[in-house]
Amino acid sequence: VEDHTQAKRVEATRRDFVANVSHELKTPVGGISLLAEAVMDAKDDPQAVDRFARRMQGEAVRLSSLIKEIVELSRLQGTPVLQDPELVEIEDVVALALDHLRLEAEAKQITLTDKVAADLYVRGDEDMLITAVRNLVGNAISYADAGTAVGVGARLQGDTVEIAVTDQGPGIPEHEQTRIFERFYRMDAARSRATGGTGLGLSIVKHICANHGGDVSVWSEEGHGSTFTIRLPAAPDRVEHTEDITAQGDPNR
Ligand code: ADP
Repeated sequence: VEDHTQAKRVEATRRDFVANVSHELKTPVGGISLLAEAVMDAKDDPQAVDRFARRMQGEAVRLSSLIKEIVELSRLQGTPVLQDPELVEIEDVVALALDHLRLEAEAKQITLTDKVAADLYVRGDEDMLITAVRNLVGNAISYADAGTAVGVGARLQGDTVEIAVTDQGPGIPEHEQTRIFERFYRMDAARSRATGGTGLGLSIVKHICANHGGDVSVWSEEGHGSTFTIRLPAAPDRVEHTEDITAQGDPNR
């Protein structure tokens, strides 16, 4: 007797995904089409043409980030385990992820700080890990108010590397805390749209962590900000290496 439950679930998830993708893509495409009509009708009013064209550009930007994230997510879902993992230093991952976001943080007067332990290594794909950290820090910057602080920390806990991103934003109510990792899920669709969100960022983070044999979780309290923590298995040879150093440096051991 064969058990088809898992296969059926995978098929149902895939069908859901396709339905969601077409729905999400139709919105900006419909917007562009309506705006194009509006431009044609307003051809004698240069100001209106300018206004509609700008909005059209906004929809096009949104469409392209949706397509980019959908492709990224499909690629991640297709490769459950990393085929050819490289040794990745977490200090580099965090530095490169933050590089992309400094301007955004500055524009919102958000202080971006990081505290990453040296010699933290995992096995995996550096670009994917940069994407994961960037998505978390990007969200922290988008959802927090201007003038607040966002911090990134990384340390070794036993044989696990923990990367934590903390913000002083609005927080996430408990009943939403599992849902936010679902594909296309947005707590406040209007606000997320305004910040250019697609609802895919956290689901991409979740898949990247799973592909690396780790996971991502959230701690949050409404009004008191959020902390997202990525946990990944530390690269084994590096764990021994750091333990050796600690043993030598500590006279009690
Ligand atoms: P989006 O593209 O909408 O940001 P995500 O998958 O990255 O999609 O996040 C899903 C939802 O989780 C967001 O729409 C937002 O409501 C909520 N969220 C994510 N990160 C934070 C955060 N740091 N603070 C508050 N809410 C957040």
